[in-house]
Amino acid sequence: MPDQLILRVAVPAPLYNSFDYLPPDGTLAESLMPGVRVSVPFGRGDRCGILLELLTEGNIAGRRLKRAHAILDQAPLFMKADLEFLIWAGRYYQHPVGEVIANALPVRLRKGEPAASVKTTRWHLTDLGLLQQASSLKRAPKQAALLALLKESTNGLTKEHLAHQLDTYRSPLLAMQQKGWVEVLEHDDPESSASRGQSAAYALNSDQKSAVDAVDLGRFGAYLLDGVTGSGKTEVYLTLVNEVISKGRQALILVPEIGLTPQLIRRFEARLGQGVAVLHSGLGALEREQAWHLARLGHATVVLGTRSALFTPLPRLGLIVVDEEHDLSYKQQDGFRYSARDLAVIRGQRGDCPVILGSATPSLETLHNAQSGRYGHLKLTSRAGEAKLAQMDLLDIRSVRLEAGLSPLLIEQIRGTLQAGNQALLFINRRGYAPIVTCHDCGWVAECRRCDARMTLHGSSNILWCHHCGSQRRLDPHCPECGADDLRSLGQGTERVEEVLSQLFPEIGIVRIDRDTTRRKGSLDKLLEGIRKGKYSILLGTQMLAKGHHFPDVTLVGILDVDQGLFGADYRAAERMAQQIVQVSGRAGRAEKPGRVLIQTRHPDHPMMQLLIRRGYDAFASEALAERQSAAFPPFSYQVLLRAEAPQESAPRVFLDEAHQQGVALANGRVEFWGPVPAPMERRAGRYRAHLLLQAHQRSDLQRLLAQWVVSLASLKSARRVRWSVDVDPQEM
Ligand code: ADP
Ligand code: ZN
Ligand code: ZN
Repeated sequence: MPDQLILRVAVPAPLYNSFDYLPPDGTLAESLMPGVRVSVPFGRGDRCGILLELLTEGNIAGRRLKRAHAILDQAPLFMKADLEFLIWAGRYYQHPVGEVIANALPVRLRKGEPAASVKTTRWHLTDLGLLQQASSLKRAPKQAALLALLKESTNGLTKEHLAHQLDTYRSPLLAMQQKGWVEVLEHDDPESSASRGQSAAYALNSDQKSAVDAVDLGRFGAYLLDGVTGSGKTEVYLTLVNEVISKGRQALILVPEIGLTPQLIRRFEARLGQGVAVLHSGLGALEREQAWHLARLGHATVVLGTRSALFTPLPRLGLIVVDEEHDLSYKQQDGFRYSARDLAVIRGQRGDCPVILGSATPSLETLHNAQSGRYGHLKLTSRAGEAKLAQMDLLDIRSVRLEAGLSPLLIEQIRGTLQAGNQALLFINRRGYAPIVTCHDCGWVAECRRCDARMTLHGSSNILWCHHCGSQRRLDPHCPECGADDLRSLGQGTERVEEVLSQLFPEIGIVRIDRDTTRRKGSLDKLLEGIRKGKYSILLGTQMLAKGHHFPDVTLVGILDVDQGLFGADYRAAERMAQQIVQVSGRAGRAEKPGRVLIQTRHPDHPMMQLLIRRGYDAFASEALAERQSAAFPPFSYQVLLRAEAPQESAPRVFLDEAHQQGVALANGRVEFWGPVPAPMERRAGRYRAHLLLQAHQRSDLQRLLAQWVVSLASLKSARRVRWSVDVDPQEM
């Protein structure tokens, strides 16, 4: 009799081991392939896990096993290499493998629902529709555009394709359907023959050419593509992706959360054709899953997405691009705390394909890797085309009377810019009306009841809002402390600056872009469209405005409050500040119009600021790296943060003290422990938070320690009174 087969299953649960089950009754051995989903009994309920491997009875002698309920897929969702990569990632970030794998699945599959069919429904012109002329639709331009698009395609277009090509397609499509011009047909093959490669590639300039030539598409290599905004990085990606596709392979392109705009999607589709599968949060769960299957089955040649798209299974992966690699959104800050940028390099290494990390302001980690020769360093030194770089200057605002944070000189410059018919962009990294509300009589300050933080006044609704936990309350006209009615707001957020600007420039179109004005789906795109069409002359906003977008008519950039960055508690504060300044500045001086950047500061002599302004980001970054080296901070060492939080003030400390003792005993002196200390904002959303920082010169020393430590932490009694987590290579304290 053959040995009884045992299923080893990764079950999504906060436990560090995998679990063994007997196969479901009556299953054929052939259907037991690693990478399929398995429904299993777990605790008092059921879970949907992934089959990792098959064992025989010998491996687990003597244990009594439960029987799995059912195998949910006819073919594996993950190939062996995909599973091994996910297991590696779980181990590196000390996160349970079942949760890591669940995280890599589209939501419906995670819940155990049957895999979506990749049959596509596509829109076609009927015979009647084919007879219509766009010229007869002058009064219905949207229908005319739709008609033209459908006429170009010979095999129909999907809804997603229409959505990417047209701003609105639903109502014109409905109108044309009612006239009997279009119909919807179902296809087995996912490919449709949408027109391909409409926008011609430029002749690359010599920097771009050297960059493209330097990348060996045949094997793994990591490359930093280092060039200012507008230097043509995206053209380099497109050229490389095209080469990879023509070799029959697939490409994966990651962009920051806020960078996945319809504009960017259109640019990729226009160049690369319809094989582009876009994974973005605007898609419904089903559409997203279908895109995922198309990629997994090799039908989609390019996957474009944010952080989590990194885990898309791609059988013929030939290139990974991480655009704006310095962006913080690549790090997941809760649950499975991975860095998609770092994992992209690992994935490229394991899959033997090149990885391009692009940025105008590379992170110090990546720069260090490039300088030490581990990564190739490809530089684009000038702006593509004729555009000039913006001139940066500091505006000393010590002893200057500000109006809602604007100095008279900056206001003067805005006026001049508007008079010349150009646009001005103002950057302020704080939304709301004012960050402080205080009583002029007794000095009371409005604070959050659940956090160690002040509440921000939101003017239009007269509401106090905590930006850390989301609590809100109405602003009472009387001081809750002394009853006086002399409450005043101090400082400014985007709302107040907007208010003052509209008083100063009553005739001018002003647009504010922050989380409050872009909450509704599609509203950001609408505002950006208005900017491109020249509806607004003053652009005001937070970092949402500072990332990725190109505003060719902006010739003046004003940065209102840069000083927080200079003295932040985090050793990364200066790096972040410099990146922000350079990124915001990159919005100006496009096209043939040279731009100017004015940075208001109370510390005009700060050496790092001087260095950045006078000699640019490269010089700044070299100096910052030297500082990191002398302080033995990352990237010259490696860190892990053990976090704990609890409603009782003492619980995190008790847990971390015990964890500390255990850790020291396991570490053999090769790891330094700092803390435990309270988190920079100790109380947040009613929970007290503290952490213990670990640092070592070798990753392997930390990894060795963590493997044992994490398991033993889970069994500490004090662990039951806190919520704890391990953050490997933390980005924020
Ligand atoms: P980045 O990604 O570095 O911001 P892009 O690739 O978007 O830069 O290029 C900036 C602008 O310059 C775009 O409008 C692009 O179409 C144009 N461009 C890029 N490369 C060239 C080139 N070789 N010749 C002319 N224009 C170019
Ligand atoms: Zn008072
Ligand atoms: Zn709060």
